[in-house]
Amino acid sequence: MSCIFCKIICGESPAQILFRDDLVTAFRDIHPIAPTHILIVTNRHIDSVNELEPEDESLVGHMALVAKQLAAQAGIAEDGYRLIINTGVHGGQTVIHIHLHLIGGWLARFALK
Ligand code: 5GP
Ligand code: ZN
Repeated sequence: MSCIFCKIICGESPAQILFRDDLVTAFRDIHPIAPTHILIVTNRHIDSVNELEPEDESLVGHMALVAKQLAAQAGIAEDGYRLIINTGVHGGQTVIHIHLHLIGGWLARFALK
């Protein structure tokens, strides 16, 4: 198994895990670009959005709802935050295991394009 996120999910590699259930695991990004930067990762290895199937629809919805819950816990729900899924080379995806970035704690329009 060469995927770093699969290694984190199975406990082989360390991470600051904030949430886990049957479908997803959430942990802090190792190189945060904002005060809150959490990755919500599917427990099952899926390369990217390009590999999603119709039966994954509720899984993707679940990722968004977990992000909402973690944003509230981090105290950034009211101020707002970004949810980003980078996909493929042009999308800037560097880890080939689908993940949702939860980024907040600062005013995003001054920090990111
Ligand atoms: P991408 O560029 O694929 O959308 O995002 C990958 C993210 O994973 C990057 O923000 C990067 O900092 C983070 N990352 C890469 N390797 C590790 C790791 O080993 N542990 C953690 N916690 N985050 C990682
Ligand atoms: Zn993986």
